[in-house]
Amino acid sequence: MPPISQQLHAELGKRLRASRAALLSTVRARTDGDTDDRPSISPNAHMGQNDDAPAAEMISHNEEHFAEHEANLLQAIDQALGRLETGAAGICVVCGRDIPEDRLLATPTVQTCIACQERLEKESGTGRGPSM
Ligand SMILES: [Zn+2]
Repeated sequence: MPPISQQLHAELGKRLRASRAALLSTVRARTDGDTDDRPSISPNAHMGQNDDAPAAEMISHNEEHFAEHEANLLQAIDQALGRLETGAAGICVVCGRDIPEDRLLATPTVQTCIACQERLEKESGTGRGPSM
């Protein structure tokens, strides 16, 4: 028995995939903008000649277009999609309780319940103590 309804499952999947597509197209738009004014890349420009021009160079070039928060977001989206696949979505990774539907819909990448998130924030934000 999945912890979340089929309907919520479908909705979250839809939202996550939409965010993923939007994120990738944002990054891609930036990448395209960069190469826009160059002539189309010759398909064999990277072959032969230079046998130490690895594909890794292209990959790292592409990654430059990912701002850190975008890379993190993409990772969070992929994790959330994975959790949907395995039926773990909607369960707090910390305490194992159900995450409220509203919270999932507001933030489909969320992995913890509100109580745990608040606790984690308090633990990581040691600088700011509770205000009286
Ligand atoms: Zn929790």
